[in-house]
Amino acid sequence: MVVKIDEETCIACGLCVEACPVDALAVEDVAKVDESKCEDIGDCVAVCPVDALSL
Ligand code: SF4
Repeated sequence: MVVKIDEETCIACGLCVEACPVDALAVEDVAKVDESKCEDIGDCVAVCPVDALSL
């Protein structure tokens, strides 16, 4: 499992990128996850201001 991103909801704020301890997220037009790095930690889910992330 990796984090799921609701691309319609994401506002590309970048908070999840800063929160991720394994550097699995990047923001292009919206947040993107590197599935080879994501470890289901959930720090990104906790910081997203618009609830665009879920595990
Ligand atoms: S914290 Fe939420 S709104 Fe901000 S870039 Fe990440 S997924 Fe998008």
